[in-house]
Amino acid sequence: MMLTCIECKNDVDLSSYPDLAVGHVVECQMCGITLEVTKMEEEHLEAEIVEEGK
Ligand SMILES: [Zn+2]
Repeated sequence: MMLTCIECKNDVDLSSYPDLAVGHVVECQMCGITLEVTKMEEEHLEAEIVEEGK
């Protein structure tokens, strides 16, 4: 399963998220942004940027 970071366009390594599901958040190792999974298909994920309210 692949996810392309919508910020830096690099592939996000999902191997550390074995139980990934819609609503889970993943972190892009390249730019450090936090992404929330919004859609899952067989070999494709969609995600949107999580606005961190710091
Ligand atoms: Zn990124």
